[in-house]
Amino acid sequence: MQQIPPLWLDPETHLARRTPDHPILYFSPRVLHHVAERFQAGFNGLVTYAVKANPHQAVLSNLVAAGISAFDVASPAEMEAVRAASSDAAMHYNNPMRSRAEVDAGIAHDVESWSVDELSELEKLHAVPRDKEIAVRFALPVAGAAYDFGSKFGAAPEEAVALLKRVAAEGWTPALCFHPGTQCEDESAWVEYIHAAKRIVDAAGVQIARLNVGGGFAANRDGVAPDLEKVFAAISTAAVAAFGQDHPPLICEPGRAMVSESFTLAARIKGMRKGGEVVFLNDGIYGGLVDIRDMGLPGRVEVVSSEGLHREGARHPRVVFGPTCDSLDRLPDGLPLPEDTQMGDYVLFPGLGAYSSAMSTQFNGYGLSDVATVIELSGQRPR
Ligand SMILES: *Cc1c(COP(=O)(O)O)cnc(C)c1O
Repeated sequence: MQQIPPLWLDPETHLARRTPDHPILYFSPRVLHHVAERFQAGFNGLVTYAVKANPHQAVLSNLVAAGISAFDVASPAEMEAVRAASSDAAMHYNNPMRSRAEVDAGIAHDVESWSVDELSELEKLHAVPRDKEIAVRFALPVAGAAYDFGSKFGAAPEEAVALLKRVAAEGWTPALCFHPGTQCEDESAWVEYIHAAKRIVDAAGVQIARLNVGGGFAANRDGVAPDLEKVFAAISTAAVAAFGQDHPPLICEPGRAMVSESFTLAARIKGMRKGGEVVFLNDGIYGGLVDIRDMGLPGRVEVVSSEGLHREGARHPRVVFGPTCDSLDRLPDGLPLPEDTQMGDYVLFPGLGAYSSAMSTQFNGYGLSDVATVIELSGQRPR
């Protein structure tokens, strides 16, 4: 029989019983199920999951169990991961840059929807069966996200018009897609994109089968949960305002916002210097904390002793280094840790399910690989 791994009560219990000397991600399937429910209840369309945010099998199989039936994939390896979690989930291959071998892999995996942002890339798709959807990805110079996705992918609106016409003329099912950029805290970005989609549709004279509004939904970074429902409502209202009541069916593909809250990362303090001003952790920017380098310090961290007790002292900003011998392995300065923090304690980073283990390297023999499943995550309940 298959071994069922233990389900721990919470990270504190696991830390106290096991005192792990390597970084760990604590995963709460319950939290993931709640977030998946929230998206499916609130978003007026098909909710898919962007696998790159966290391709762990436990994430994919729990999302399937929560009712997610389609996945945004960017590579053949992600297609394999989705197939391992579900024999019939739909795949949307929305990385618009593909080698010929990758196109063949997508065809072999029966990819249902392909995105494209350039004529040369559309030409590579000639062998894609004509009953599949091709979504033209367009980009606008719109602000609002933590960093801009439009500078890498996405056709300018005029090019998108030509591409959409070509997709329809070749007999594929035409669609449009965009991505407002990750950690987008301003819903007006989606509104602008949706109105631009309508202008592209009108200029092309092509009916689109679906409009994919991308990912980019914000995760909780500062302790205040983003108002996802407000974003869902703005998207819905904009779709009706632009296209009318019978607007094309919508798709969203959250990565970060879907998975971030269901994981807490615990890194152990290896040593402290300069009277505690400088802290060395056993995880850093080459491991599970890479997103902190790019997104800035999170507003929520907890310190837990090796007995599993929370440090409650007044907080002081620290300089925090990762475990490798590379001097770049340093978090943005000023992580506030309690004054009673000690060597051997664990720093808990809630909300680190996205772009953590997925981007962790084994540089210098470190890195993040262990996941423990818990019922409750730190920060979810008062203590
Ligand atoms: C990365 C990506 C997503 C997910 O973005 P988040 O900001 O994590 O929600 C969705 N769609 C595409 C095409 C992507 O590349």
